[in-house]
Amino acid sequence: METVSIAACETYHYEEVEKAVYACLHCFSELRTRMKSGSKVLVKINLLKRNAPEDAVTTHPAVVEAVVRYLQAAGCQVIIGDSPGGPFTVGRLKSIYKTSGMLEVAERTGCELNYDTAAVAVINDKAQRLKNMQIIKVAQDVDFIVSVAKLKTHGMMVYTGAVKNLFGVIPGLIKAEYHFKMKSAENFAQHLIDICEYCKPVFSVIDGIEGMEGDGPSAGQKRQAGLILAAENPYALDTAVAEIIGIKPHTIPTIKAAADRGLFSGEVRDLQVQGLQLTDIHILPFKLPGSLHENLLAGVLPGFIADFVENTLRARPLFNYELCVSCGDCQRACPAGIITMNSGKPVADLDKCISCFCCHELCPKKAIDIKKHWLHRVVFK
Ligand code: SF4
Ligand code: SF4
Repeated sequence: METVSIAACETYHYEEVEKAVYACLHCFSELRTRMKSGSKVLVKINLLKRNAPEDAVTTHPAVVEAVVRYLQAAGCQVIIGDSPGGPFTVGRLKSIYKTSGMLEVAERTGCELNYDTAAVAVINDKAQRLKNMQIIKVAQDVDFIVSVAKLKTHGMMVYTGAVKNLFGVIPGLIKAEYHFKMKSAENFAQHLIDICEYCKPVFSVIDGIEGMEGDGPSAGQKRQAGLILAAENPYALDTAVAEIIGIKPHTIPTIKAAADRGLFSGEVRDLQVQGLQLTDIHILPFKLPGSLHENLLAGVLPGFIADFVENTLRARPLFNYELCVSCGDCQRACPAGIITMNSGKPVADLDKCISCFCCHELCPKKAIDIKKHWLHRVVFK
């Protein structure tokens, strides 16, 4: 059994958020003893790109502040950090910290914001796939990592929460290289588990007050869930969230991969829930990203049919040139290197597209839609 703790929290008013975060974390009585005074802790938040808190793309500053204050009360020296999508530069970090509200969190709490953009090569002995990896230096410099994620759907991985959040320890554009090597969601999930096991977050918190459904993690719709959730086991935490938002946990590749490795079964019956009980939470299922129907179908189909589904029905990005401002972020983010800028507008060689949707994720203008194969309309109408 793994403990997950859940608290209701309907707004981002700081007092309410702090009460919910503290209530969740108090369930894990040994946390404070492990967080020895003076420990350096990286609070790894989700800062996908430059978005304001109300966009529901990044971890909300009120949740981050509550976690920071909890750690500071235990005597920890706290650093907030992430490597957002795109280039990992000081200028980009400054701009994202300001827009996302993290600058104000640092000013109010006195914690540090990470501006060190160095990467270090590490050996991940226990990894099954990613034995040699590059990570942001700050993740190596600290004593502990805490994952503070945002509840969102994800075009490639179905859902992004505690485990997927840790992909942000991979520096800037190296993420695109890893994406390209990992291509399928199942393979990517195995690598995400390797990264999560290396980081070994002491605990994870999910900001589920306002989440995102549909074409997450950045171009979906905001969705109120009114919850803060926490756990020591990130796989158990993601399992609880999946159940709450109406996704069968084992259809989420990271939960399945973790179950295959014996890290958590992915079964709701193996959760010990503290605080608000799952049966007390009534949330209509989150809408899934448009790109996902074939992945879910492929998971239950064997052999050549699954290959057909994978290769033929796979969704592709579709550029909306009326919204495009020619920033080139999609080109820089594309792991396959198949986007070129033609007279200031992006054009992709879609035959080589791996449907990772990094371009869609990082477009600042929601100018990239997910184009489904016409059979979608027949099969999934
Ligand atoms: S599609 Fe989006 S990311 Fe790509 S160039 Fe246009 S605005 Fe920028
Ligand atoms: S075009 Fe977009 S979806 Fe296709 S490989 Fe490039 S980033 Fe991924």
